[in-house]
Amino acid sequence: MSAERENAKLRLLGLDAEEIAAILPEGAPRYTAKQVRAFCFDGKSIDEMTSLPVSLREKLKETAVSVPVGIMRVYASRDGSKKYLFMLDDGNLIESVFMPHDYGNTVCVSTQVGCRMHCAFCASGADGLVRDLDFSEILGQVVAVNRAEGGSARKRAVTNIVLMGSGEPLDNYDNVMRFLEEVTAPDGLGVSERNISLSTSGLADKMKKFADSGRKVTLSVSLHSPFDEERSKLMPVNRKYNIASVIDAARYYFKRTGRRVIFEYTLIRGVNDTDACAERLKELTKGFPSHINLIRLNETGSALKRPTSDAAKQFMLKLNALGVSATVRRSFGEDIEGACGQLRRRVAAELAAGDAAEKNSASEREGRKKFTTA
Ligand code: SAH
Repeated sequence: MSAERENAKLRLLGLDAEEIAAILPEGAPRYTAKQVRAFCFDGKSIDEMTSLPVSLREKLKETAVSVPVGIMRVYASRDGSKKYLFMLDDGNLIESVFMPHDYGNTVCVSTQVGCRMHCAFCASGADGLVRDLDFSEILGQVVAVNRAEGGSARKRAVTNIVLMGSGEPLDNYDNVMRFLEEVTAPDGLGVSERNISLSTSGLADKMKKFADSGRKVTLSVSLHSPFDEERSKLMPVNRKYNIASVIDAARYYFKRTGRRVIFEYTLIRGVNDTDACAERLKELTKGFPSHINLIRLNETGSALKRPTSDAAKQFMLKLNALGVSATVRRSFGEDIEGACGQLRRRVAAELAAGDAAEKNSASEREGRKKFTTA
């Protein structure tokens, strides 16, 4: 995959009217910038902004794109969820997942290409961080899925957003903050903060900064083990921010925002599903409102194993008996490589193989040409 941004066009989605006005040709009416902003949130391409004069559209296309992510493939699961594979303007791939619920529809978006956290069980971080997404690319996933599912900015098909795809959102702090600003803006998508969750591997200092930011989204914290030694093996980030510092930051988040914190806990057979784990989890979550989401591991090729659904239920009941609020999360898209980053890795490998095959046949053709002209 080429990592070059071929033509480095300005990404319009999410820019405010003033930023857009700055690139419009002189003499364009003042309201044009607002119209362009609104069209972008509907997911329209510049060509589709048909109420703008053709000459203006042509001019704009020379230097800008509206939604900077292109749907490359859509995989539909038997359970109703869909995985969207997007290509970015530099050829990188990212994934989003659409999940229909009784109460609305959730889209799970990526915040980085790859991830630098290297969690032992996660496919997203397996090859490290490629690059941060800019806020327009994070927005683009929501806008493109919303449109593909039949929605517009004013009549949304997407009601809930989770920043739980590939990447560590708090490691791309400024873009995520601008994303939150635009996705909640009344003249953006107008999504309520109550309907947004951000999931972090536990960057304690950034969690505190986020708590102080005034945003009140649901904070999910990936815990995965209540013991430092084990957590450091599963999540190397624990060596920098240990469990005590993560819990301290979670309490602080509650204190500042009044929002109950969610702990994510990926259950791994024989590793973090023992009685001692349940008891320690009770100690850690004492004294402030929280909830534990148990997720059965999606096996991604490491030696770590997924527990049976019965074992997961037993662990949940053990926690509940100790007075800890916990449920087993339904997991979507298991037949379509639902785990973060699995699909991107496979398709990127396929494309690389395809590119190589193409190059080979190109050099074969080249070789033949040389041969015949010689
Ligand atoms: N970096 C953030 C958000 C992305 S991952 C974070 O760590 O929270 C979203 C959640 O999926 C995290 O709880 C992560 O630990 C979990 N996850 C990743 N790979 C998984 C897998 N193979 N099986 C189950 N959960 C997984």
